Amino acid sequence: MLQIHENVSLKNFNTFGIEAYARFFVEINHKEELQELFADPQWKKATRLVLGGGSNMLFTQNFDGLVIKINIRGIEHRINHDEVIVESGAGESWNNLVNYCVNWGFAGIENLSLIPGSVGASPIQNIGAYGVELKDVFESCEAFEISTGSFVHFNNSECGFGYRESIFKQAKKGQYIVCNVKFKLSTQQKINISYGAISTELEKNGIHNPSIKDVSRVVSEIRVSKLPDPSTIGNAGSFFKNPVISKEKFHEIHAQHPTIVHFIVENGIKLAAGWMIEQCDWKGKVVGETGTWKNQALVLVNHGKATGKEVYALSEEIIQSVKQKFYIELEREVNII
Ligand SMILES: Cc1cc2nc3c(=O)[nH]c(=O)nc-3n(C[C@H](O)[C@H](O)[C@H](O)COP(=O)(O)OP(=O)(O)OC[C@H]3O[C@@H](n4cnc5c(N)ncnc54)[C@H](O)[C@@H]3O)c2cc1C
Repeated sequence: MLQIHENVSLKNFNTFGIEAYARFFVEINHKEELQELFADPQWKKATRLVLGGGSNMLFTQNFDGLVIKINIRGIEHRINHDEVIVESGAGESWNNLVNYCVNWGFAGIENLSLIPGSVGASPIQNIGAYGVELKDVFESCEAFEISTGSFVHFNNSECGFGYRESIFKQAKKGQYIVCNVKFKLSTQQKINISYGAISTELEKNGIHNPSIKDVSRVVSEIRVSKLPDPSTIGNAGSFFKNPVISKEKFHEIHAQHPTIVHFIVENGIKLAAGWMIEQCDWKGKVVGETGTWKNQALVLVNHGKATGKEVYALSEEIIQSVKQKFYIELEREVNII
């Protein structure tokens, strides 16, 4: 029997550590419990929020509806020659899955080591880091369709993946709850260390022929040195997306800011939002209980007692100053509730 709790504090359910209350709260441990929940018309028509690890959310107010916390667990795999299909419950922690794969020697997600959050949110966000995105290894997912009460499958092309985007955030927003995800990985030690500081760090450690375990360890070390640990300083990682602009627009901005940090991508030029925020003198600034992280201006932090509204107001100020200096409007990556 499902337990629906009332007026539950969400402080420990979001990595910003922001205090906010859910009017109703339910934990789902098995996918069949979703059918049980939505068989009740009260919950089918309720305002809902699906919650994984709460590492990409900012609560700016209490949630006057039903929060559905997904805890569906379990990881298993099936090897077929050089390929392996790893299937994970949506409620597994992403990093548990990475460790599982790295320990078995399955290559493909080691560059995504130490990203907080759940497996279920990974296709929603198309998480990415160090030159790898979820879409590179995503095989399919099984999701609960709220309108019909049935389970449906989405393959890679059906998910409409883009930079921190998928159909689950766009056309199909709020319609599906991801229950489990299948990943296609390799039993061969194919590694990708071309991005960021990975190869330099490996060399520093005297590792010339790295294994996926080495890559995972080095990526984890780099992340720990750059990003605040949410268990001590509340944050949700990168608060803004890196904007992608046309070549024409880039040339105009580049003429005024010749040192602007940028990368060529498929559909244009990606600008480093963190660099632009830093140029506007925001890096490491403390504003009341909130601010930006001293080592990475793209990360907004809660120094202890910040409210969601304060963090949001700071993000608005940052957007305005970047707009004034670079004529670029930053877009928030974090989900604002
Ligand atoms: C320190 C730090 C570093 C980070 N670094 C990175 C990084 O390098 N790369 C990156 O991409 N992200 C990064 N993030 C952001 C975050 O970890 C990811 O976006 C992660 O995928 C969010 O997972 P979650 O379970 O916490 O999702 P939540 O915050 O709980 O939810 C995020 C969104 O997904 C929806 N959702 C969650 N679970 C499900 C489900 N089962 N079915 C349907 N919808 C669901 C929610 O409704 C919400 O819209 C970082 C965050 C932190 C705190």
